Amino acid sequence: MLRAGEKLVLATANQGKKKEIQALLAGSGVELVSLLEYPQLNLPEETGTTFIDNAKIKARSVVDATGHWALSDDSGLVVDALGGAPGVHSARYAGPQAGDAENNLKLLKALAEVPDNLRGAAFICVVVLASPRGDEFVFEGTCRGRIGRQLIGSEGFGYDPLFMVEPDYRFSMAQLSPVEKSAISHRGLALRKLRQWLN
Ligand code: IMP
Repeated sequence: MLRAGEKLVLATANQGKKKEIQALLAGSGVELVSLLEYPQLNLPEETGTTFIDNAKIKARSVVDATGHWALSDDSGLVVDALGGAPGVHSARYAGPQAGDAENNLKLLKALAEVPDNLRGAAFICVVVLASPRGDEFVFEGTCRGRIGRQLIGSEGFGYDPLFMVEPDYRFSMAQLSPVEKSAISHRGLALRKLRQWLN
């Protein structure tokens, strides 16, 4: 069992993610540290074919390298009309060097002929908590919406400006404040499940 005061190493050096996770785990008593405290530790390549596989690969490698509990997350966008693409390839959909702008443009082109009612999509996040004894606990969050026809909003990152949020698709994810996004997002949902489990 993960006890208060115990160290929990986040399998990310991304300070934005650390902040979000810290806020959701506030008061749980665990000491959250990120990979910035382990500069010599390189995460392995994400070679899995599912979000769960990739999250497990990351969490396990951090446990093996540090001897502490580890928390990883893996996330991405799954588009119905594209058979689930870009999925685990979301970060590099338009190529290994591609950024958000190129990825969004590729997605718009791929869906150019697809009518509004068939543009359903979901953000998925899998969080894995792994223990030094070999236990793994998986928490999943899904947020459904539709892919719009133009970039809207300036908050968030990744595919947020194209992701029109359910139920009425009036706002893109990039129009929501961080607090509003966290209340409905795949990552927020997965982390709240983890928080409940820790309680
Ligand atoms: P990772 O889990 O950090 O590897 O994220 C994978 C990719 O999925 C990101 O680079 C984004 O392209 C996309 N993605 C994941 N979560 C979000 C989100 O909340 N908004 C927009 N894009 C996201």
